[in-house]
Amino acid sequence: MLHYDNFINGRFTPSTGKERITVVNPSTGDPICTVPDSTAADMEAAIDAATAAQKAWGKRPAIQRAQALRAIAAKIREQVEPLARLITEEQGKTLGLARVEVAFTADYMDYMAEWARRIEGEILESDRPGETILLFRQPIGVIGGILPWNFPFFLIARKAAPALVTGNTIVIKPSEETPHNAVKFCELMAQTDLPPGVINIVHGRGAGAGKTLCASPKIGMISFTGSVETGSAIMAAAAPNITKLNLELGGKAPAIVMGDADLAMAVQAVKSSRVINSGQVCNCAERIYVQSNVAAEFTDKLAAAMKSSVCGNPLGETEVEYGPLINQAGFNKVDALVRGAVAAGATLVTGGARHELEGGYYYQPTVLADCRQDMDIVRREIFGPVIPVVKFDDLDQAIEMANDSEYGLTSSIYTRDLNTALRACQEIHFGETYINRENFEAMQGFHAGWRKSGVGGADGKHGLYEFTQTHVVYMQRG
Ligand code: NAD
Repeated sequence: MLHYDNFINGRFTPSTGKERITVVNPSTGDPICTVPDSTAADMEAAIDAATAAQKAWGKRPAIQRAQALRAIAAKIREQVEPLARLITEEQGKTLGLARVEVAFTADYMDYMAEWARRIEGEILESDRPGETILLFRQPIGVIGGILPWNFPFFLIARKAAPALVTGNTIVIKPSEETPHNAVKFCELMAQTDLPPGVINIVHGRGAGAGKTLCASPKIGMISFTGSVETGSAIMAAAAPNITKLNLELGGKAPAIVMGDADLAMAVQAVKSSRVINSGQVCNCAERIYVQSNVAAEFTDKLAAAMKSSVCGNPLGETEVEYGPLINQAGFNKVDALVRGAVAAGATLVTGGARHELEGGYYYQPTVLADCRQDMDIVRREIFGPVIPVVKFDDLDQAIEMANDSEYGLTSSIYTRDLNTALRACQEIHFGETYINRENFEAMQGFHAGWRKSGVGGADGKHGLYEFTQTHVVYMQRG
């Protein structure tokens, strides 16, 4: 088994501690490799390296910083297949989805590189004669990036690319569940001429290395993707230093299916959204509201589609639509929510138990009918191949139930009526709404959650500018 180190100041650097984390294949339970469970001293060394590197990096013209991103993207494109296999092995997504993730990561770096010549300030009209007011966008300094396990490779780019092109340096802590792909990212990065200290990757657990990063007074902004609970802990750790936060948290996406919808299309979209990455995606449909007059037909068709989903080891011999859940804790959470819903009166239409496959954390594709708004399965993030269905009579009721959530990331509506779609867009209080389709979001959009789903957002111009701070200069003519 291979044992990897952190990547600090341009070099693979052994940890100052002895604790290791074993990475496990969720499809088989087999160990893959180990990474350090880094100490506070390891994390501080990385923060110091990033702080030292930022001085020169921030002074480079943005177009040169963009070249560095493009060089890494080119290296990634040379390795799509091995990277995809490695992501599948440690995370459990299908090879097809892993290939998309790798390609999208390279495209994302190129996309952010394109912003180099478009980072714009403003010239503002003054109240005083002979005065000019200029607003500059400047780097924040050192960014702390903390990653989840569900799109581990892409999330490196979503943090590092906007950080670097705007002149920041970064220290990233990957998820302890999926650090192997980050090691490979470092190997590719080391083959480019990126200056030492610009991107540093430190492995470890949240409560150790993660907390040290969030509590450091040298960090200008924490950009975190993960659960609401961890987001809240990060806010607390960052509070003493008033560190800026950019939080991409959980979701509980409602999908509203109107009586006039193209039901075949809605079924297909919802099903794909629910089995992709085994249902472990922040923006996928997590609760379905279906109009009463089509509820029976929709639920039957959805159950048939879900039941036919092929689940299995994504590196096995048969092609599968989805693989295992990430770990035992994830499995237990999904199973407990399903059992709780049945105990509270939901009807199990299909699934509802461990898949008969041996070895991994496989869960049956599951549909629950007769769900109610007060059930945990309708209120809490499931993160598994499970769909609760709730009936409604009119759009008012559907919108009210959709909005009745502490989450506010994504939402969707299926209808052929333009007025219905427009009304939903105006009255659904979520960061994103998909009409007649499910995810994913576009890199030129702005992925930002309302309520407990986040603070700030990612992607596009607005996501880029999160990584800058403004500086206003008043110039008085003498
Ligand atoms: P998680 O919150 O358990 O862990 C995420 C990261 O935070 C890990 O690297 C972990 O080590 C670290 N961490 C844990 N405690 C910490 C602490 N006290 N201080 C600093 N770091 C700490 O999330 P997860 O299980 O890896 O990911 C799944 C969650 O992520 C889901 O809720 C999902 O909805 C969310 N997610 C959101 C988006 C989005 O764009 N909004 C995208 C992907 C995933």
